[in-house]
Formats: sequence, C-alpha cells, structure tokens
Amino acid sequence: PGLASSEKTRLDEASVPQSEKKLDFVLREELKVWCWLPDAKWVLGKIQSVSGDDAHVLLADNKVLAVSTENLLPANPDILDGVDDLMQLSYLNEPSVLHILQNRYFRNMIYTKAGPVLVSLNPFKDVHLHGNDLIASYRERLVDKPHVFAIADTAYSEMMRDGTNQSIIISGESGAGKTETAKFAMQYLAALGAGSGIEDEVLQTNLILESFGNAKTLRNDNSSRFGKLTEIYFSDAGKICGSKVETFLLEKSRVVQRANGERSYHVFYQLCAGAPPNLKDRLNLKAADEYEYLKQSNCLTIDSVDDALSFHKLTEALDIVKISKEDQENAFSMLATVLWLGNIGFSVIDNENHVEVDLSEGVTNAARLLGCEVPDLILALSTCKHETNNAVQKLTISQAIDTRDALAKSIYTSLFYWLVGLINKSLEVGNGHTERSISILDIYGFESFNRNSFEQICINYANERLQHHFNRHLFKLQQEEYIQNGIDWTNVDFVDNTECLNLFEKEPIGLLSLLDEESAVPKATDMTFANKLRQHLGGNPCFKGEKGGAFKICHFAGEVLYNTIGFLEKNRDQLHSDSIQLLSSCSHQVPRLFASHMLEQYQPTSLIQQLGRIDSQKQSVGAKFKDQLFMLMQRLEKTTPHFIRCIRPNDQRLPGIYDYDLVLQQLKCSGILEIVRISRSGYSDRITHQQFAERYGNFLLETAISQDPLSVSTLILHKFNIQPDMYHLGHSKIFFRAGQIAALEEVRQQTL
Ligand code: ADP
Ligand code: MG
Repeated sequence: PGLASSEKTRLDEASVPQSEKKLDFVLREELKVWCWLPDAKWVLGKIQSVSGDDAHVLLADNKVLAVSTENLLPANPDILDGVDDLMQLSYLNEPSVLHILQNRYFRNMIYTKAGPVLVSLNPFKDVHLHGNDLIASYRERLVDKPHVFAIADTAYSEMMRDGTNQSIIISGESGAGKTETAKFAMQYLAALGAGSGIEDEVLQTNLILESFGNAKTLRNDNSSRFGKLTEIYFSDAGKICGSKVETFLLEKSRVVQRANGERSYHVFYQLCAGAPPNLKDRLNLKAADEYEYLKQSNCLTIDSVDDALSFHKLTEALDIVKISKEDQENAFSMLATVLWLGNIGFSVIDNENHVEVDLSEGVTNAARLLGCEVPDLILALSTCKHETNNAVQKLTISQAIDTRDALAKSIYTSLFYWLVGLINKSLEVGNGHTERSISILDIYGFESFNRNSFEQICINYANERLQHHFNRHLFKLQQEEYIQNGIDWTNVDFVDNTECLNLFEKEPIGLLSLLDEESAVPKATDMTFANKLRQHLGGNPCFKGEKGGAFKICHFAGEVLYNTIGFLEKNRDQLHSDSIQLLSSCSHQVPRLFASHMLEQYQPTSLIQQLGRIDSQKQSVGAKFKDQLFMLMQRLEKTTPHFIRCIRPNDQRLPGIYDYDLVLQQLKCSGILEIVRISRSGYSDRITHQQFAERYGNFLLETAISQDPLSVSTLILHKFNIQPDMYHLGHSKIFFRAGQIAALEEVRQQTL
C-alpha cells in the first residue's frame, strides 16, 4: 500500500527504455538534480541551470561544464545510500546500475537483487557473509538483505509449502563465483535439512568432485571442467534424505594436454604431494615434476594452495561419503596408471616413422598397476590389428602417441564417472522414494581465450542453452502469461539467443550435425570441416565467417574465434579397439569394469565385428552432449527456478578492483537491466484462483468458503483491503505486485 501512485508512473516508463528519456527529466523536475555525464565512463554531476539545449553541470572537482542535455542521463537522488534491489531505483539506466553495484561492492555487499534474479559479485576475498551466525539469522528471518542464503531459503519454503520441486540455477562467466555460490546454497540447505546426518556427506561430495573435476586455468585457479546438477532430496518433514549428482561432459583433453600455465586435474598433484609413504610405495609414485603429463604445461603448484593438505582432506571426504578403502586405493592406482602412461616414450625404427615402445619404468609400472603383461601393453600401444584380416600393423609415431593419450584420457574419464556412480550409490535415498527435491545447477561458465577449440565450443553451447532457459522464464513465459490473462502489456525487448541455438542445433545443417556428418567421413580433415561450415552456415547471423580453418560465432556473451584443429577427432573420440581389449583382459577388476563401460559407448568397428555386435555406431561427443543438455532442460522445466547471476568484477582476480567495462559487458549480455524493467512494471507473484481461495479462505466466514474459487478470491481481496492497482484478476490467476503476498503470508503465519 502507498506505493500505488509511484508504481503507476513506473508502468508508463516501462515501455520506453530509460536511456531514451533524455531532456525530459531535466525540464520536469526542480533544476538542481543529479545526472550522469558521458565520459570514458559515466561521471556524476549536478545540474545548476539549463539554457536552451545546454545544461551547466557541477562536477565533483567543482568545475562547471556546459553539456548538451541530449547527452545526460538522470541519476537517482538516493544513489549513494544504496538500495538492495535494483527495482527500487527511480531511474533505471546503465550508469545508475553500475554505480550502485560498485558502491555496494566496495562496502562488501556482494549481493544485490535485480527483481527476481540475485546478482552476486565475486569479492575475491572473505567477506564474512557466510558463517553459521548468518545462516541462523536467515533461518529465523532476522535479516532480509539479498543473499544466496535467502534464495535457498525461498526455494526450501516453496518446496515445503507447495510440494513442488525447485531449482537454483547459477550462471556467469568462468571465475565469476558460481561454484562457491553453489556451495553456499548447499551449506544453507544442509543446515535447514539437518537431522539425518547425511547432510555432511552431501557437502563433502563437492570436495571430491572438485579434486577430480577442477583444475587451474588462466581464468580461475579452481575452474570446474565439468557441469554439475546436484539434486538434494527432502523427507516430508523437510530433512535431507539423499542426494544425486549428475555430471556433464568432463573436459578430457586436459589430462594429456593444455595451455601453458594451466594444470591438469587437482587430484594428480594432490596425490603426488600427499600420498602417505606406503601408498607411494605401492604405486611407485614420484614427485609431480617427474611426470610428463604434469610437467609439460610449466605449472605444478598454485599460490597459497597446499596440495598435500588437500590430499588429506580428500581422503577424509572419501571416508565420510563411505567410499571403501579398497575403492579409494583402486582410484589412486588408476591415477598413477595415467601418470605412468604419460611417461611411455617411443623410438622411430624405420624411415616410415614406425615405432617401438621404449622399455622404461613407465611401461612396467603402468602394466603392473593395470594388471596386464608388459608385452601386451607394448603391443596395444605400438601396433594395430587390421579391421578385416587381423593382420598386425606397426603404428607411426603420431599414431602411437595418439593411442597412448587416448588410453590415458579414457581411463581418467572412466574413473571420474565411476566415482560419481559410487558417490550416488552412497547417497541414494533409502527405502521409499521422496518427491521433493531442490536441484542446484553449476556448469562451466562462458569461455573465450586467445585460442578456443572443441572444449570451448561445447562449454559455450551449454551456456547458450542455459541463457535460453533464463530468457524463457524471465521474459517469454512471463509476458505470454500476462497476455493470456488479459493484462494489457507492452513487451519488453530482450536479446533473444534463439538464432545462436539454431546455429548449433538446426538439422540437417546446424553446426553439430555438420560436425557429425564430417566426422563420419574417414578422409575428412579439420579443413574440409571448416569449408563445410562456411558453405552452409553463412545464412545465420550468428556465424561471423570462416578463414584459414578458424571461424567466429557471435554468442550472447560476445564473439569467440574457434580453431577447427582437432575438432573431428575430439568429436569422434575413438578409442583403439586393441586398447579396450587390453583393459578387458587385465587381472585387476577396475580396468575390466572400465572396458565394459567403454564397450557400451564406443563399440569400435573391428571389435563390434568380433563380438558379433553390429547394431549401432557410437554416438559422437557433440550429439551426446546435445541430448544430455536437452534432458537437463526438460528436468529443469519441471521445477520452480531461482536464478543467481555471478559477475566477475575484474580480470586480475583481486579484491577491491571494479572494472566498469567488464561488469557492464556481463550485465548487458545477461539482460539484467531488461529483467528489472520487466519486473518492476509487472507483477512479481501469481497464484491460481483455486490455490488462493484454499490458502486464505479460512479468514472468511464459513458460508463464504463454499462459493466458487473466483468469488472466494474476490472476497479475500476485499477482506484484506488490497488496493485494485496492487493486483490484477486474470482469467485463471491473480497477479500481485511485489510485497502483497508476503504481507498476506505474514498475517497467515501469525494467526495459524
Ligand atoms: P566459477 O565457478 O564461476 O568459475 P569459482 O566459484 O570457482 O568461479 O570462483 C573463483 C574464485 O573466486 C574462487 O576460487 C575464490 O577464490 C573466489 N570466490 C568466488 N566466490 C567467492 C566468494 N563469495 N567469496 C570469496 N571468494 C570467492
Ligand atoms: Mg566453477
């Protein structure tokens, strides 16, 4: 109440982007108003007088400038006081939003609401906002400042209230703070749903998955190289009773190769630094700098990270999640196998570049850890059987290296997925299913490096999908619902990324199907693939051309130049059938298990024939990833979403630096301003007549409750004296402006 008149003006303003309203504000209001002057970035000033088209503006350094009013934007009078929610700003324009975020950032207030979305700025330091005392305060509703805890609390309350599944969807560029924020959300939910003891296990899974799935990149010392959906299940009483992790496409190339200055997966360095002496002996383990796979990128340690200590924590976490000591030993043994494989070298023996395997520690250790004979391993790495007549052929040097690396990569990814399986088994919900869950999505963020390959295109494609989901919920669905319910509504424009998704997904001439088509042609090369893209994708506005094997795509978050080198091979992801056979003949059980999983997926042709299985071809990496993303989206569609947008305030990864342009670019591509615009001119809560009548009907006299839901709803609205401009009675739902439902809920809680 009381907001009515100001809300009205906001509604009128909503259809006109604020940036277009220039002179207007100067003439309408008293003269000495705050304004933004365009400069390299916007500067704050105060208008002293206006003559003709010019305004005289007083700046902070006491200078007065004459500026055309055309170029000024209105500033909020209370801008320095700070508001919690961008919806509360009188003037919504870029400089105002950037200023308010900056102001809050320097006061360690990293969270700000943008209507329905929580914006979080990475502080790159401990801001003391995530302790148990604050968890308690949010639980008891003693504070109502924007926070990831508040988001988790809302999700939990809605789940308990309506019995509907919820999701917390965290997005943002690499290094923006998604993974940390996801952990805070889980920490809060674990505290809310504590009781069964399983909450501790749920939290520890993060640590394990980070060891095996995160690595130092140029952007982030702890970059997630896989996507992750953590589903947490709750009992009727609201206690955590289990959890399930789904992972998406682990970046496997990193195990054998990566950019200079980056690292492979943390766990390798942790194992080398922290394994106790007897484990070291069993694996014949050396220091990290003795392994080719680790030392090749010239980066073995991370500042202020103690790998040995991390190893200790990892084994603790594995214990808590009840991964048996035997399985832990198996996991470490497979890690050592990968490292030893990397140390296997080859010697060229003829002028056709054919090779022999060098007899070394690498071969003997790898064979021993796998449980196979040394000659068998040598044969698998240096020869191949001809597909049809089984004749043995020697491999060339590059083929042999590829075979060795492919084996190492597939052992590592098998290990990762096997471990995820063990974790899920351990956290499975016991007897009787439960319907309630909260899912937390944390995927790898948008990436653009100097050199971008297949891995980046998969990551960025996933981010396009996610952005589409975000747009659909915050723009499309909301606007469609208004129109369906007869609300007079002017659509707010937003950057729709459907075209870019089409570029990837369209059949038969989208990027992914062209890639599959080319991957199926034995003679195709990365160059023929590049040509194909140029020929077929030119019509899509998001395809910005191809040149010399590199092509450019205009993503929602910016343009990225991709190099096609290695695309076909990475998409095919083929493993030599001899390698799979080797693994399936090992005396140790885990490699055999891996081999059977690989067989399910890979089915290399010669082996299919041997086993009499000619039914299907292996699905390509791209096609599988696309399917997985579709299934993810379907699952998310069945939940009530809560969105968190993380922002990386600087590239240096240092506290206290607010890079204006970097923040602006991230705000722009996530459509934050538009979301605020649509939200504050619209209705934030909606509820069907039926639900409304059921929930608040008991405040009415008994006789009234027997009427139809619409009539009961109308009576309730009158009873509580809710002003007509605070709600809209639609055909099936009632729409409320912000705060109305919260006020009703308060009354309800007090009288229950
Ligand atoms: P993303 O998952 O988006 O790539 P991360 O969550 O891994 O990014 O964050 C990158 C780094 O930034 C973290 O390792 C941590 O050092 C820092 N960081 C992120 N969020 C916070 C936070 N809320 N408080 C303190 N430091 C943070
Ligand atoms: Mg991450």
